[in-house]
Amino acid sequence: MIYEIAISKIPLRKSFLYQYSGELESGERVLVSFNSRDCVGYVLCQSELSDNIDLREIKEIKERIDGLSFVNPRDVELIKWVARRFYSPIGQLFDMMIPAFVDDYAKTMVESTSELIPLESMSLSEFISKYGEKTLKMYLKKGYIKLRRIFAAKQPRPRVGNLYLFLNKNLEEAILTAKNPDEYDVLNYLFANEGATVNQVVESTGVTVKKIRKMMDKGLLRASDMPSIQSALIEKNRENQLIIDDNEPEKKVISGGTVEERFNLILPLIKNAIESGCSVLYLVPLSSQIPYIAGMVQKSLDVRTYVYHGNLSKSQKALVWISAYKGETGVYIGTRNTVFLPIKKLGAIVVENDEDESYYQFEEPVFDCVEVAQKRAFLYDVPLILSSASGRLDDFSDLENSCILKLQTSSRNVILVDMKKQNSFLSDQLVENMRKVLNDGKNILLLTRRKGYSPFVRCLVCGYTVLCPNCDVAMSFHKSENLYKCHQCGYVEQVSDICPKCGAHALYPKGFGTERIERLIKYNFPSARVARIDRDTTNFRELLNRLFEFQKGELDILVGTRIILHGFTYPKLGLLGFVDIDSLLFQPDYNSKIRVYQQLRQGLQMAPNALMVIQTAEPDSDLIKYLFSSEYCFYQEELERRKSGNYPPYSFLVQVVLESDNPSIGWDLISSCVDSLRDEEVLGPVEHAVFKLKGKYRFHFLIKTRELDDTLSKLDGKLNEIGWKGWRVFINPPHLW
Ligand SMILES: [Zn+2]
Ligand SMILES: [Zn+2]
Repeated sequence: MIYEIAISKIPLRKSFLYQYSGELESGERVLVSFNSRDCVGYVLCQSELSDNIDLREIKEIKERIDGLSFVNPRDVELIKWVARRFYSPIGQLFDMMIPAFVDDYAKTMVESTSELIPLESMSLSEFISKYGEKTLKMYLKKGYIKLRRIFAAKQPRPRVGNLYLFLNKNLEEAILTAKNPDEYDVLNYLFANEGATVNQVVESTGVTVKKIRKMMDKGLLRASDMPSIQSALIEKNRENQLIIDDNEPEKKVISGGTVEERFNLILPLIKNAIESGCSVLYLVPLSSQIPYIAGMVQKSLDVRTYVYHGNLSKSQKALVWISAYKGETGVYIGTRNTVFLPIKKLGAIVVENDEDESYYQFEEPVFDCVEVAQKRAFLYDVPLILSSASGRLDDFSDLENSCILKLQTSSRNVILVDMKKQNSFLSDQLVENMRKVLNDGKNILLLTRRKGYSPFVRCLVCGYTVLCPNCDVAMSFHKSENLYKCHQCGYVEQVSDICPKCGAHALYPKGFGTERIERLIKYNFPSARVARIDRDTTNFRELLNRLFEFQKGELDILVGTRIILHGFTYPKLGLLGFVDIDSLLFQPDYNSKIRVYQQLRQGLQMAPNALMVIQTAEPDSDLIKYLFSSEYCFYQEELERRKSGNYPPYSFLVQVVLESDNPSIGWDLISSCVDSLRDEEVLGPVEHAVFKLKGKYRFHFLIKTRELDDTLSKLDGKLNEIGWKGWRVFINPPHLW
């Protein structure tokens, strides 16, 4: 029989034909020879024999790896769809579903298939040591035995030292279950210090890690990679009495309100799913949001939560993957890769902040997690809930097939500061209001887009701007490290004040980033407790700790990039300041207006009682006006514009990027590619806004099409002809890469 096979790890956008004498399951892994190497392949489907297939040229599948498929047939459909829709390498998409690390916990078993061989099922290594490899091969050939792989044969044991410990039962019950003085010690310690790390417990009680593990296995303790979530506020909806109706369409959009208000709406749905023995997939854009969501779930429902994101160790990830695969019921919360977890009984999918760009994966395999989630919900016939402060533009384009629940936006106290009349990047109004808020004992969030001290360094004499030698990007100045850094490629340079162009000692930092704002604030408010969050300086654990400190009121002022807007409610928040919203607005991008609108809207919803200060040079712009009207108006008008301009969601926007070592060769290549697409609606080619990046010269063009498959097959033909090196393709990217 002939099978279509997708090859693992290979960046190719097609499948290959192989033959095998027996029946194979769709999605199962096989060993094949590809480019004279042994590779893992995934079975897509059986292929029909046709006249133009010469059987002699089709290679044999070497062997079955698992003996069965670990991928649900609906997920095989999903992967095929994602590969087509995002023009992504199909083998790499399968790799997302069965990550290599799960093999570390798998075992191959030998099972008898014939009454002639009355064999107990045993592991492969056991069989070989008992009967030898010769017998194995002979039995396999005769069909007496078969090999079957089981995942989760070994339980992953993640390192526990840094995990946080919690009591799993109330103290009384736990003490009754405890067996010896060591266990009493640990329980007593945790009663007073819930959320201490394993290392802290070991240090303070002298009880060994092994014994603590034992207590976890007995169910006395629960370990988590997230610190304690004491202050998740779950208040009942004030005026909003929206109820999710099961008769409504399966796609439900919840827009407006705070995270908690939206969560309260979703809760009955999660409860339903769990009570009928199903699991819930809960997606968030940033891992920093996970503990908060997990905390709300744990406080509201008696259900296990599983957490999955890039900061976990391999064995931690494997543990969650295996739980999902084995069908353990729970709420699986995680960032975009979680959408590929092989959850056995899926009951509902929730996407929080679906408008966030982090859901789009720009690296191979490219995909938009929100669209994958929608498709998966459709294939599994389960409800999909898109929940956010403002929603995606697309959410409002298909009103017939979705049910929209809008939470009221309470009127807010907002000050618009006209920055044309200001000398400092912290306006007088902002500083004045900050002072008032601090005097009232409340705390302050300041949001800025840029990291570091200042985003560029300029010569005061000749106007020269220090650029990265690899990129067309200004080097930013990091004062605390005394370095110039390129945020695109990571290139660093020692600080100097000598202008390389005119030789004057006149290089001077211009503009401001998080670090400079933090310094200025410390100067203005010397007694305030100030901290800064950006991805440069903060690792995941520190980041969470900062956010929790701020939430508890242990910090007065927090300066950060947009990460601070996500997923938290701050009860003591008195002022939310947008320092440089304009820099976001003037990005050369078809989505920049929407992005600003969504960010402001998110701020507006986040803390209903806080004052919001927006610094802008355009206080009269439409955007600001729309902020306070209903979001329908803004989105409806934007949708009209896109309809007449033939932009998504009314067409597909395909961005084709070429990176080349040589600018003139690159230009010739991309021009010839555009020439071959004559009957398509093409914009470009042009040099990319950041022409030189990481030492490569970049060109791109855009195609607007309503027939995506046709367009991609033309493009595919051309790229196969000229070679794939340096080309990247993005379908409906949230920003032009
Ligand atoms: Zn100069
Ligand atoms: Zn660079």
